[in-house]
Amino acid sequence: VEFKNVDGQRKLCEIEGTEKNLPADLILVAAGFTGCENYGAKAFGVNLSARNVVATAEGKYDTSREKIFSAGDMRRGQSLVVWAISEGRECARQIDEYLMGYTNL
Ligand SMILES: Cc1cc2nc3c(=O)[nH]c(=O)nc-3n(C[C@H](O)[C@H](O)[C@H](O)COP(=O)(O)OP(=O)(O)OC[C@H]3O[C@@H](n4cnc5c(N)ncnc54)[C@H](O)[C@@H]3O)c2cc1C
Repeated sequence: VEFKNVDGQRKLCEIEGTEKNLPADLILVAAGFTGCENYGAKAFGVNLSARNVVATAEGKYDTSREKIFSAGDMRRGQSLVVWAISEGRECARQIDEYLMGYTNL
């Protein structure tokens, strides 16, 4: 498979002519870098970006729905623990500011 831009969305697509049949008793599919699980975003009614993660403005954590914030892999896509920690802290700061009008975090 390879990533292609389909209708403005980054989608994982099959590469024609590369199909193979392999015997197997059990198949576990572990597909990374495909974006977030959509059920979470759908449940909250937030918009997704072309990379299939929760859309926010750059450097911001508020989403298309008021009072809903997103951070970590749901916002950035599959990444590193240090980014998830950093985004969690930044997101908490923005939520505090949203709620209080100022923040000391
Ligand atoms: C196999 C693998 C190996 C990795 N190796 C590394 C590595 O070596 N170094 C590194 O820095 N990063 C690594 N990463 C990436 C790192 O784990 C992630 O970037 C990081 O964990 C993202 O943190 P997060 O808090 O955004 O999301 P997560 O850690 O995924 O936390 C999301 C949490 O939400 C919970 N959740 C989901 N749905 C619901 C629901 N409906 N209700 C309640 N809870 C829910 C999940 O159970 C989970 O606990 C790896 C990731 C994977 C998958």
